[in-house]
Amino acid sequence: MKVMSELENNNKTRANDYVHNVYEQLKKRNMHETEFLQAAREVLDSLRPVFFKHPEYLDEGILERITEPDRVFTFRVTWEDDAGRVRVNRGFRVQFNNSIGPYKGGIRFHPSVNISIMKFLGFEQIFKNALTGMPIGGGKGGSDFDPKGKSDREIMRFVQSFITELSKYIGPDTDVPAGDIGVGKREIGYMFGQYKRLKSKFDAGVLTGKDPEQGGSLGRKEATGYGLVYFVDEMLKGKGDSFAGKKVVVSGSGNVAIYAMEKAIQLGATVIGCSDSSGYIYDPSGIDLEVVKQLKEYSNKRIKDYTMDHPRAVYKEGCIGIWTIPCDIALPCATQNELDEESAKILLENGVTAVAEGANMPSTEEAVHVFHTGGVLFGPGKAANAGGVAVSAMEMSQNSMRLSWTAEEVDEKLKLVMKNIYTSANEAAINYDYPGNLVVGANIAGFLKVADAMVAHGIH
Ligand code: NAP
Repeated sequence: MKVMSELENNNKTRANDYVHNVYEQLKKRNMHETEFLQAAREVLDSLRPVFFKHPEYLDEGILERITEPDRVFTFRVTWEDDAGRVRVNRGFRVQFNNSIGPYKGGIRFHPSVNISIMKFLGFEQIFKNALTGMPIGGGKGGSDFDPKGKSDREIMRFVQSFITELSKYIGPDTDVPAGDIGVGKREIGYMFGQYKRLKSKFDAGVLTGKDPEQGGSLGRKEATGYGLVYFVDEMLKGKGDSFAGKKVVVSGSGNVAIYAMEKAIQLGATVIGCSDSSGYIYDPSGIDLEVVKQLKEYSNKRIKDYTMDHPRAVYKEGCIGIWTIPCDIALPCATQNELDEESAKILLENGVTAVAEGANMPSTEEAVHVFHTGGVLFGPGKAANAGGVAVSAMEMSQNSMRLSWTAEEVDEKLKLVMKNIYTSANEAAINYDYPGNLVVGANIAGFLKVADAMVAHGIH
């Protein structure tokens, strides 16, 4: 007995030292990549119990290998604006890990895009994709191009230039990009058209998020938002609760936010607030989602204009204030680090019982700590927002089989995937002595799948 506990102690010390040393190395190597280091720290910390129980992963150097991307491309994207001026942006693709399938992850067009943000998103994507149970590896890409205020033709010229370079590195069995912030079916359409032209073949499986009329999957547009709500529904069921009668606040008003609101409303909740990058609206009698769709999905207007149709609603400048609206369920669906410690404390004081991340890493580490210590059900992004990539993988399957599933079939499969993700994250949390902690559970469940494949494939 004594010998066992000594062995356990040794394993613990060795595991703690290992995680610490890998993180210190990572810091030295990637000193200025704050978002990447933030994402890596969270994952590494939660993997300590895995290395206590399975020192064999440590011997295989899995952490050192999984935190270093297979490769990173940066490239110049030159395009011409409507005034005939030559413009230059920077393009990125991070191919992080393909141990369980081709690299898979979205393309983001936003002025904030840099190597740190690309690596944080690509790293998260490894674990998220593994959690879906589908054979897809982790990657991410994008550009610091700002689509706001650009004409349709400018977008097309930019996208054609971007994909001309990226086309050298992607393919249905190599790397399959999709949309993200600033990239929807219009941009994917232009990418696909240019790729087809360059390769002289109709390779439907090279990109996902395509228009359903052109090889896309029904249900992809709704998948991340609906999947998020299905995930929260599972969390609530675990406590004998449901969405019915709940007040919900959703940040953002883009693709994820709109369809999270839609499903929450369908399940009987009242959505009382949403936002864009300028400010937020509070409509205590329930957001009129059709107006939000008209403003943000079908035209390029600001959320502020909601009050023109609904003068009873209140608009406030600045996005962070959205978390001061008292609610039962908060769904951050806009961008990284949009929900800080102060906001988390306010949500808690106002009685929030569940928070789940539609966006990638929207809550700061301090905010997550507030939720965990305050007994709030917390669904981390890599589990809760995996519905989008899951349906993207279904799009790949449909493209390979050259057939299309109905929206109902896709929705049923999505529900099952989200239920399975919740179950595997919840069970991993229990098995590794962190019951109820879905951050730890999701990280461990995703990691084990990838780590086992890496071990099986040998050291490289
Ligand atoms: P999107 O359609 O481009 O929408 C982004 C929304 O967030 C817009 O309403 C934008 O406002 C708003 N926003 C941006 N910065 C903000 C800020 N600081 N505060 C408040 N609102 C802000 O993008 P999306 O596809 O919904 O993606 C949103 C998040 O979900 C991202 O973190 C993305 O990585 C993640 N995600 C997306 C998917 C997917 O399938 N799309 C899947 C998994 C995860 P403006 O209109 O003013 O720009």
